[in-house]
Amino acid sequence: MRIARITAYRLDLPFKDGAYVVSGGRAALGFDATVVALHTDGDVTGWGEMAPLGAAYDPAFAGGARAALEELAPLLLGEDPTQVVRLNRRMDAILMGHNYAKAAIDMACWDILGKTAGMPLAELLGGRYGETVDLYRSVSQDAPAVMAQRATHYTRAGYRRIQVKVGGDPAEDVARVRAVAAAVPRGTVLFADANGGWALGDARRFVGLARDLDLTLEQPCRSLADCAALRPHCPFPLVLDESIDGLAALLAARGLADGVTLKLARVGGVTKARQLRDAAVELGMKVTVEDTGGSDIDTAAMAHLSLSTPEAFRLHTVDFNNWVTVSNATGMPEAKDGRLAAPTAPGLGVTPRMEVLGEPFLEVG
Ligand SMILES: [Mg+2]
Repeated sequence: MRIARITAYRLDLPFKDGAYVVSGGRAALGFDATVVALHTDGDVTGWGEMAPLGAAYDPAFAGGARAALEELAPLLLGEDPTQVVRLNRRMDAILMGHNYAKAAIDMACWDILGKTAGMPLAELLGGRYGETVDLYRSVSQDAPAVMAQRATHYTRAGYRRIQVKVGGDPAEDVARVRAVAAAVPRGTVLFADANGGWALGDARRFVGLARDLDLTLEQPCRSLADCAALRPHCPFPLVLDESIDGLAALLAARGLADGVTLKLARVGGVTKARQLRDAAVELGMKVTVEDTGGSDIDTAAMAHLSLSTPEAFRLHTVDFNNWVTVSNATGMPEAKDGRLAAPTAPGLGVTPRMEVLGEPFLEVG
């Protein structure tokens, strides 16, 4: 089977709940998504999606993804999309780095592989552990009372895991987490995510002030060295997210992080995320599989990879298709009681809404 034609679409995905704010005042009003279709000579079409979270969350931006696709796409014609590792190596040989730009192509390859094999991704990626995975919901950084109100809104909607955006003034951050903890039902799982926003001293101050709280701390400082320096002072489980951009980073986090957040776009797609997921599980680390953004196509991939992660090592995933006002595919099961299922049809198991995608910005072959 060969790639005969590649088309790519740009799609704006506004957030239902307005601006999404993380540490450092970084804010986004939605995702600027890229959807890729790989059309084969065998009449099978595979779909993939990627979206960075603005341009200052990761070293990735939407315009960069589109420019990289212009470079990559013509040179992938004639390649076999079902040989996913080989195709990834081909992409890396054409363009060094820019993993985020390759993620949608890789996802589309897995969609083709699944459709060709007649198997859903969850099974292809190692096996389906249970029927649903836990979802978390982020509470955008704001004043403590506002965040408490939003967290309540989400727990009423069924979410049982709340991620509180911190990474600002440590005392105010502790007030944020305390306000949310006091507002949500007992048993709600709390994460405090600084998105690398604290200097080491601020992170130390936060963990000192928050010591009595029951929470998991996510990416307190930007650098791995600072997170490692914090570790002896930190009584909480520590999860690294922004730091984990590949296998070398994962290995460096061993013994330091209790868990890792794997984002499909950051690490380069399903192939590389699966590699990291499997390595993390073997190393005894807990894993969140998610992404930097997207709608239904991307959410399907996150759900499959999450569901194929053994439950004992699984943290949670995210239902971005419910964060945004635009649905770009049918077939995603509804999130229910804070949990998400993966489709059972072959491949990603979703069908793109062509009327939503509109005209492609790129068409080769
Ligand atoms: Mg995070």
